[in-house]
Amino acid sequence: MFRVLLILFLPLISLAQQSDSAFVRAIYNEALSNGQSYENLRSLCKDIGARLSGSAEAAMAVEWSKKRMEACGFDKVYLQPIMVPHWERGTKEAGWIRTKAGELIKVNLLALGGSIGTNGTIDGEIVVFNHLDDLKKASSASVKGKIVFINQKMNEQEIITFKAYGQCYPIRGNGAIEASRLGATAVLIRSLGLPIDEHPHTGSMHYNDSVAKIPAAALSTKDAEILAKIAGKEKVTFVLEMDCKSLPPTPSFNVIGEITGSKFPNQIITVGGHLDSWDTGEGAHDDGAGVIHSLEALRILKTLNYKPKNTLRVVFFMNEENGNQGGETYATWVKEKGEEHIVAIESDRGGFAPRGFSVDGGESDLAFLQSLSEKYRAYDLHTFEKGYGGVDIGPLKKQYSSIVLFGFVPDSQRYFDFHHAPSDVFENVNKRELELGCAAISSFLFYVDTHY
Ligand SMILES: [Zn+2]
Repeated sequence: MFRVLLILFLPLISLAQQSDSAFVRAIYNEALSNGQSYENLRSLCKDIGARLSGSAEAAMAVEWSKKRMEACGFDKVYLQPIMVPHWERGTKEAGWIRTKAGELIKVNLLALGGSIGTNGTIDGEIVVFNHLDDLKKASSASVKGKIVFINQKMNEQEIITFKAYGQCYPIRGNGAIEASRLGATAVLIRSLGLPIDEHPHTGSMHYNDSVAKIPAAALSTKDAEILAKIAGKEKVTFVLEMDCKSLPPTPSFNVIGEITGSKFPNQIITVGGHLDSWDTGEGAHDDGAGVIHSLEALRILKTLNYKPKNTLRVVFFMNEENGNQGGETYATWVKEKGEEHIVAIESDRGGFAPRGFSVDGGESDLAFLQSLSEKYRAYDLHTFEKGYGGVDIGPLKKQYSSIVLFGFVPDSQRYFDFHHAPSDVFENVNKRELELGCAAISSFLFYVDTHY
């Protein structure tokens, strides 16, 4: 009996598979031959540029995004109001190494996001630590009244660069707290970047109510090497001037577009990235590429007249970089509206050549993901494994315990050349790699909608 059924159904199954694979081929063709992603990213980077939460550019980017979504002809396009922190870099930002002989060497630095200013200049002796743990073990006598410099390098031997970043992240996040605890007047860190170059990398940092707030900045890796070399030989001082400051929280928005599900309209599959960026460079890889990937993924399905089973929703989250208010507010809001969120997908690892997807879910979700491996072989995707979803979609897990989160995984080798640096510009995104990422996410969205 089973055999008869199998024989009866086999042709149907293979027909379905064939049409699935033909549809995926059509998705790739659309992305590569008629793609709009590269021009959309150019416009976001060049017509608007960097878009830190609370800035005029972030507000422009919200309007820009809504118009681009409307042009795609989605069933619904709307804004979700949120409140975001507002920090400004200011206009004065400089640092000089002063050698024992009195020579001044100007360095490239960026205030860390959220830092207080120096209120004039801070002039102090440098004390160097090669690792955050060394600072934690230091005596306050060796640090008090000095400027702490944490010269912790990203480990270039890690193949997946995000691992090396994760190991160094605490020097940026907690360096000011640890240095202040011992009485330092300011903290300088080596930028979280792999190459030795002149671009400083900013990023978020924290204070703690139990210790005084001190200014925090990142030196370019090149200048970090210079400072470490001089400080290794002689007593060296440093002059720091920054007038960055925090302003009151500002209203902003997540930007949302969707194609309504034909069978289960209340079952939501979200795909997104973050619209905000740091205020240096153009936020091209981080995360212009991610929002453009998500927009293009849905546009292609719409263009090919795909009728999803579930509601497919693209979300441009605001404020991932310094607060995650977009992700947090979205998760609470959709839960309160009574929506059923089944899957969320995030692209926030740059616009590089796609490698595959990672899943934060159960064993059956991993099995589903791995079942795609064969289907994607022809498209050169090979990574289908357990892993991280994304910062913006993370809060959904607190509201929906059974939600499945997927992260788009592109090649990671060059991401930390550009991450949070002035070099994160449109010119450093490759058109074909961006388009292949769009096709990978669009086809993945199709497979996910079919499966869940
Ligand atoms: Zn990002």
